[in-house]
Amino acid sequence: MAIKKVTVAGSGVLGSQIAFQSAFKGFDVTVYDINQEAVNKAKDRIKNLRHAYHRDIAASDEEFNAGISRLKYTDDLAQAVSDADLVIEAVPERPDIKHDFYKKISTLAPAKTIFASNSSTLVPSMFAADTGRPKQFLNMHFSNQVWLNNTAEIMGSPETDPAIYNEIVQYARDIGMVPIQLKKEQPGYILNSLLIPFLDAAEKLWINGVADPHTIDRTWIVATGAPFGPFGILDAVGIRTAYNITAASLPDNPGLQPILDKLKELLDEGKLGQESGEGFYKY
Ligand code: NAD
Repeated sequence: MAIKKVTVAGSGVLGSQIAFQSAFKGFDVTVYDINQEAVNKAKDRIKNLRHAYHRDIAASDEEFNAGISRLKYTDDLAQAVSDADLVIEAVPERPDIKHDFYKKISTLAPAKTIFASNSSTLVPSMFAADTGRPKQFLNMHFSNQVWLNNTAEIMGSPETDPAIYNEIVQYARDIGMVPIQLKKEQPGYILNSLLIPFLDAAEKLWINGVADPHTIDRTWIVATGAPFGPFGILDAVGIRTAYNITAASLPDNPGLQPILDKLKELLDEGKLGQESGEGFYKY
């Protein structure tokens, strides 16, 4: 089956980007969110992408407008999924919300519909039973600023049909992503499985007094040619998110407590990273 009609459910930070990128690349996209207020926010978010598409990938106004014209919006879930070939789920990272969402669409969507989750940390086997179609369910994980940081990490559960997996790999290519194919389930996929221990290691060097953040970053940048060091990356991710990720891993890794305390100090000072104009660096 060729994918033509796509529904993106949850139109916040990532959902709005995935929806527009799909429409920009020629797909008919329905954007679903829980109420009219959320739908209106999505319209604004998407409208506001114009400058970034122009600046980062030289999209013309005509190309951007053509993308906009392929988008429809609704807060009616039955209508949103009634004829979808593919539903991409980008609802909040809360298992209760995702369980409930998949149970609902399992009966609302036709048998043909493939479901893909953009979850950052939850593996597809957690929700496969809810979907009523475990063979047609997998994760497709995007990175923030999808038009620029264009990886799509694709990860099936043990039950995902390989033919469906390949269809999603092709879909990722069709919307301008670099498909990254995982062979088995891995919380954090490839990117965050590498990034989080890297950031933890940098933070440990800092709190153990080995070197200050700027020296640690400079070491990484000069020695490897990377554009940013770990603390520059933390500023881009945002100190609030870094704090939440560290807090969540504390039960398994109590050694992270001093790092959590340092991140809390930054938060209390209003230093949230790039978004507030200051974190480990000033912007
Ligand atoms: P967000 O909070 O910005 O957006 C979530 C959206 O879902 C909101 O518009 C909200 O109204 C809507 N929503 C709430 N309950 C819903 C429901 N029952 N049904 C449909 N929509 C509902 O969140 P986000 O950052 O866009 O994250 C969404 C998903 O994408 C999460 O699974 C997250 O892990 C993943 N993700 C986020 C990022 C990121 O950088 N923010 C990157 C990759 C993946």
